[in-house]
Amino acid sequence: MTITYEFGDALYVNMTNRCSNDCTFCVRNNHDDVNGEDNLWLDREPTIEEIKEDFEKRDLSKYSCVVFCGYGEPLMRFDDCIEIAKWIKEKCPFLPVRINTNGQANMIEGRDVTPLLSGVIDTVSISLNASNAKRYDEICQSVFGEAAFEGIQEFARLAKRFVPKVVFSIVDHDISKEEIEACRDIAKNCGVDFRIREYIE
Ligand code: SF4
Repeated sequence: MTITYEFGDALYVNMTNRCSNDCTFCVRNNHDDVNGEDNLWLDREPTIEEIKEDFEKRDLSKYSCVVFCGYGEPLMRFDDCIEIAKWIKEKCPFLPVRINTNGQANMIEGRDVTPLLSGVIDTVSISLNASNAKRYDEICQSVFGEAAFEGIQEFARLAKRFVPKVVFSIVDHDISKEEIEACRDIAKNCGVDFRIREYIE
């Protein structure tokens, strides 16, 4: 079971394969890719203790940051993420912690969880994927339907009060220049940063 893994100079944490989205491009839908020897597909979710034990095997001083990511939405395990992030901050106060998320944590939890990010999460990177609710729903197929699109914008606005850096990101693939600019405007209106990620085949 791969719980933590290195990518670039960062250490990534793979806590769950569950997600409230079912994106058309998601690697979870391509089992040929995820069933390799060193894959991130989990037979079961690791416990908090197993995650901590995995971290203990690493020299955290050599990483530029810790990233909650993996084949799934890390904030499906919101409380566990925060517990692990707090534990990391206690061990290494200056090691930045980022969460790559679909931005639906408040809808998943049915409460505003953003105050709990304060002091433990340095960056929240939210996949925006589209410039309007209809297109977002076509691509991401959230369990929350088209309402997810407004939900992630609200999450970004609220998270910005507690997290130093909040970013909306899109992948530069199958998206028009007009839609990219519309996404940029959404980020601006939410008061968060905007990043265009390079498409990797
Ligand atoms: S949000 Fe991420 S993990 Fe969830 S379905 Fe989309 S690509 Fe997959």
